[in-house]
Amino acid sequence: MLNEIWVSAELDGGIASVSTRELVSWAASLAQEVVAFVAGSELEANVVDQLGECGATRAICVDGGSSLPSGGVLALGMYEEIQQGSAPSAIFFEDSHQGRDAASRLSAKLNVPVVSNVVGLSIDDGRIIAHNTIFGAKEQVSTVIVGPDPSLFVIKAKSFEIDSHPKVCEVKVVDVTKLLGHLDRVKIINSFREERTGPKLADADIVVAGGRGIGSAENFHLIEELAELLGGAVGASRAIVDSGWVPYSLQVGQTGKSVTPSLYFAIGISGATQHIVGMKGARSIIAINKDRTAPIFSISDLGVVGDVHTVLPSLIDALKARRSPT
Ligand code: FAD
Repeated sequence: MLNEIWVSAELDGGIASVSTRELVSWAASLAQEVVAFVAGSELEANVVDQLGECGATRAICVDGGSSLPSGGVLALGMYEEIQQGSAPSAIFFEDSHQGRDAASRLSAKLNVPVVSNVVGLSIDDGRIIAHNTIFGAKEQVSTVIVGPDPSLFVIKAKSFEIDSHPKVCEVKVVDVTKLLGHLDRVKIINSFREERTGPKLADADIVVAGGRGIGSAENFHLIEELAELLGGAVGASRAIVDSGWVPYSLQVGQTGKSVTPSLYFAIGISGATQHIVGMKGARSIIAINKDRTAPIFSISDLGVVGDVHTVLPSLIDALKARRSPT
């Protein structure tokens, strides 16, 4: 077992995000001490309980003021703790804006490399081996960092299960407001909370994604309705994001989000490489497309050749009937 692993933690709607709980719980299975770093000046008791339940032995709030990017603040807090003598074997970051920002800044400060796109971790001879994807997820490789600790890993959502490793989680606050240096040249001047009714796209167990084949922005309600019936999240191809039918936050693919749900619906999506790299990790894929030669069918577990305007309403009606049998 390793001595200590740190996790760059994130909150979602006032609770620890699903990815954070996955990372803390996986860290707890690998190390005796797990420290969760959270940007902010305090932590609600329910979040401390959640982190402890997943196996965190300490939570460190890094206070850099509220107008600075949280990734930079976290990297600074971690760097300062290391300068004070802490020696984690590894640091886990969510594959998110904050996680990628914090990992790259810390990598530059410590002069250690980052392994990104990690989907699994194992330990061999006391060293962590990361299983990750490269070349737009075309190749899977195993990577070991030879060199000084800590090893930095950016880990994709849903790579690990959340297990219970109950620990008493102590909270400490580290004030870095006097150490910001060049960091305070970047200020957040506005922020907004994304409207969402179902689960977060990256964490969802079921994703229902629509593409240009749905025909118009007005038809996207069919995608939303199916997602709602299945308790899933909605996603989209870049073609309909670029057309302004849906916001960028829904885009799946190379320049959007990577998702690994149990079930992914590709509806009216052709299956361009840039889309596939963001969703081919799904356990099962169902495609609906009127073109039987569409590339999406080559990676689908179930392919329905048909018009979305016929297939989708029938599917929605069937699910509604099953929900409330008459
Ligand atoms: P189309 O390719 O136009 O496909 C529409 C599909 O709908 C077709 O297969 C058609 O047969 C089917 N269809 C049409 N009408 C119906 C109907 N009535 N019923 C059933 N099926 C129907 N794309 C992404 O998605 N995500 C990315 O992150 C991304 N990043 C990119 C990055 C770069 C650098 C580049 C160059 C491109 C990127 N793209 C990305 C774009 C990508 O190459 C494709 O253009 C895009 O994925 C196509 O979206 P689509 O499948 O919705 O549209």
